[in-house]
Amino acid sequence: RSNAEKFEFQAEVSRLMDILVNSLYSNKDIFLRELISNASDALDKIRFLALTDKEILGEGDTAKLEIQIKLDKEKKILSIRDRGIGMTKEDLIKNLGTIAKSGTSAFVEKVQTGGDLNLIGQFGVGFYSVYLVADYVEVISKHNDDKQYVWESKADGSFAISEDIWNEPLGRGTEIRLHLRDEAGEYLEESKLKELVKKYSEFINFPIYLWASKEVDVEVPADEDESNDEDETSESSSSEEEEEDAEKGEDDEAEKKPKTKTVKETTYEWELLNDMKAIWLRNPKEVTDEEYTKFYHSLAKDFGDEKPMAWSHFSAEGDVEFKAVLFVPAKAPHDLYESYYNTKKSNLKLYVRRVFISDEFDELLPKYLSFLLGLVDSDTLPLNVSREMLQQHSSLKTIKKKLIRKALDMIRKLAEEDPDESNDKDKKDEEKSDEDEKKGQYAKFWNEFGKSIKLGIIEDASNRNRLAKLLRFETSKSDGKLTSLDQYISRMKKGQKDIFYITGTSKEQLEKSPFLERLNKKNYEVIFFTDPVDEYLMQYLMDYEDKKFQNVSKEGLKLKDSKDKDLKESFKELTKWWKSALASDNVDDVKISNRLSDSPCVVVTSKYGWSANMERIMQSQTL
Ligand code: ADP
Ligand code: MG
Repeated sequence: RSNAEKFEFQAEVSRLMDILVNSLYSNKDIFLRELISNASDALDKIRFLALTDKEILGEGDTAKLEIQIKLDKEKKILSIRDRGIGMTKEDLIKNLGTIAKSGTSAFVEKVQTGGDLNLIGQFGVGFYSVYLVADYVEVISKHNDDKQYVWESKADGSFAISEDIWNEPLGRGTEIRLHLRDEAGEYLEESKLKELVKKYSEFINFPIYLWASKEVDVEVPADEDESNDEDETSESSSSEEEEEDAEKGEDDEAEKKPKTKTVKETTYEWELLNDMKAIWLRNPKEVTDEEYTKFYHSLAKDFGDEKPMAWSHFSAEGDVEFKAVLFVPAKAPHDLYESYYNTKKSNLKLYVRRVFISDEFDELLPKYLSFLLGLVDSDTLPLNVSREMLQQHSSLKTIKKKLIRKALDMIRKLAEEDPDESNDKDKKDEEKSDEDEKKGQYAKFWNEFGKSIKLGIIEDASNRNRLAKLLRFETSKSDGKLTSLDQYISRMKKGQKDIFYITGTSKEQLEKSPFLERLNKKNYEVIFFTDPVDEYLMQYLMDYEDKKFQNVSKEGLKLKDSKDKDLKESFKELTKWWKSALASDNVDDVKISNRLSDSPCVVVTSKYGWSANMERIMQSQTL
């Protein structure tokens, strides 16, 4: 185009596009839901702004918050249009090419190591999936603050932007035109598009229309010569209704009416493809598992076929009213712990009276529960205030509290329903029917999200006990299986007051520890904590169900023994000598101990000092 300005894609984006263009990936369908999801985001944005300023929506068709899909079979163009917020020239340059998001290189890496392209949306680069099916793409966009522009690229490392003096004015919003490759002809079939919208975009909260063809019967003046033949054919193929009409016609004014005939004609009209079900407003009893799973997929931007591990759908009444659906995802997102301390992003969508407000509302859930997906819709929160004011609204505290409670309940149930977890082996037959599916589900949860529970114990004092119930670990007696604190306690020896644990780098290392000798001999069970975060965890978890935690490598381990006093006396001189022999800045004290069985001596940490494992962790962090 004569007035085009050329830009180079940022290097990572360019690499990503190369990969997509050359991909042999079979599930190319995903591009459509990425485009629809972007259209929906753009509509959410304009609707949010319109809450405080109605003018923003404009007039007539421009004010219609909808998504339209159109096909041009001859030119092989598929276009998706929304009347969302649109993009200014600067937005087009930045969002579609020059600024790489953090997910770009992460995604490239993932795909190159065999990861599934399907997750492209989770990495924040979903738009580029258009190049799975198109070799040339135009993005026409109009933002309230700017003129209409066209962005275009053939995925050759560059894109062009020009003021749009060719196309019809959009009013506001964005139209994406995909010039489909020959192999992607199936996306010119209306039935294919209908199927995809049904499959992937059912829960989009804006109407999605397809410019769909329709065969209709039209009455046209009958040609005198052919009238006889025509009558015959139309009679033989006509439906009962038509016959009725024809009969009526004969009865009434058959003779006055000019003769007509019925012919098939193709017309086009906007056909609504989704029914905008707000699943969270429905009665949980009437929502099927399949519907929850689909809804989860739409939230997770994951269109594999994995089910969420668990969900909870509830409503709160009283001073603060809201409805919510929470999901434990099938898998942890790629950057869950990587960015844990830098980003504070909750994954809940906040709606106020059905209007989407934000999905970056950190006040809804504490950080340690940021792995949950879901949605909250409240009638109590005010609609026409800024996000900042909403963030300070007093109801949010109540909502957060209830959400945490429900989330922890949901996780607890996940454990309770897992037959691997339960001690009670004689269940009724009916209960056993879906056992297979639930077997091992808590171990799976623990594997993906266990660290979050530990971080919760550190961060959330008010729910510490509830969270501690969810802890799992191996012990000196658990035989490679995970066990819980409650199970540990149920196995405690008579007279055992404390919960014994030891920290280290691996189970194998800990099993050989001299600290365990005596405890093993006396048949005490010792918890193995082998995750670096466990050291921090145990600084916060002091007791559980009135039992204290005792690190067996630290001072203070008491194992009942009557000979203690005598031994102390008879070895008094020796311990004194040891202490003076080892300069006092090397050791605090030298004591007679009953914790050993075969080894002659062991170095222990003082009660409030760092354990040897903690020293190791701290050292590795400063290096
Ligand atoms: P994400 O949607 O995760 O941000 P995408 O690659 O899908 O990532 O889109 C990149 C960006 O391009 C979006 O964040 C948005 O700013 C912009 N964008 C894409 N499609 C549209 C649209 N239909 N209307 C307005 N902005 C859009
Ligand atoms: Mg997107």
